[in-house]
Amino acid sequence: MPASEAPGARAVRFTPPPMTPVRQARGRVWLIGAGPGDPDLITVAGLKVLQAADVVIHDRLGAPALLGECRPDALKINVGKRAGRHALPQEEINMLLARHAMAGRLVVRLKGGDPFIFGRGGEEMMALRQRGIQVDIVPGVTAASACAAATGIPLTHRGLASEVSMITAHHRKDAEGCNWKQLAAQRDRTLVFYMGLSQAADIAHGLMRHGFAGDTPVALISNGATSRQAALRCTLDCLPASAQHEGLMSPCLIVVGKVVDLAHPHCVAQAMPTYEVSQWVA
Ligand code: SAH
Repeated sequence: MPASEAPGARAVRFTPPPMTPVRQARGRVWLIGAGPGDPDLITVAGLKVLQAADVVIHDRLGAPALLGECRPDALKINVGKRAGRHALPQEEINMLLARHAMAGRLVVRLKGGDPFIFGRGGEEMMALRQRGIQVDIVPGVTAASACAAATGIPLTHRGLASEVSMITAHHRKDAEGCNWKQLAAQRDRTLVFYMGLSQAADIAHGLMRHGFAGDTPVALISNGATSRQAALRCTLDCLPASAQHEGLMSPCLIVVGKVVDLAHPHCVAQAMPTYEVSQWVA
């Protein structure tokens, strides 16, 4: 029997809703990726829904200019970290989304990068689904793609990297950390660490302990794809020291692998023992 005829093996046919007619529909939530911080890097679909929204619930955005795209009468709610205030707990964000959708509004949840890459978009989607609220997702340019493009580092490249892993370097207290052994097992793989700046020493030690060469090229890219971009190239054994550089701040991405050698020299400064600031390209 061909695999496609096996009971239960048939693929479910599903045509994603065409963006245009549903865009104005009320009583639902759109999770939209805002991209990495350059307002031009939101998708056309994302921008169109944002412009139609009644309510926009957003984090502290890399691209605050996007809020200027909302309708003047749209309600804008910042649930991210604000001056002197913590971010709203996830459960309260879920409730807020649900409440506005159930009141018949077109709700946009605007999130940095892509909502499904370390963005807790899945949790929000599940919470809304459980309440029977329709939720649609518009993908965004994730930091890995944006930083790669902005520095000329192809994440995969024939002969250098046939795989790419996106890894969070930040773990809940009760969760296990990175599986260094598994990460280090495949050498022609690009490793991209999110939330890694303060964990740089752990990353370097974890990988080298499992056989990664100390001279593996590494790039640290801070505020990638924005006018504040600063990037530094070093080797894995120098990563802990390089991460201390005052020119690097959060948000910062760490890319490990041979593809870093292809970085555009104008975009990524080589770490020097003296760390001259003039050697930086911001
Ligand atoms: N959903 C987001 C990631 C959120 S986690 C996305 O898809 O990109 C936050 C982490 O993303 C930061 O700690 C940093 O590692 C990375 N990040 C986000 N924007 C970035 C940027 N402009 N430059 C470098 N790293 C960025």
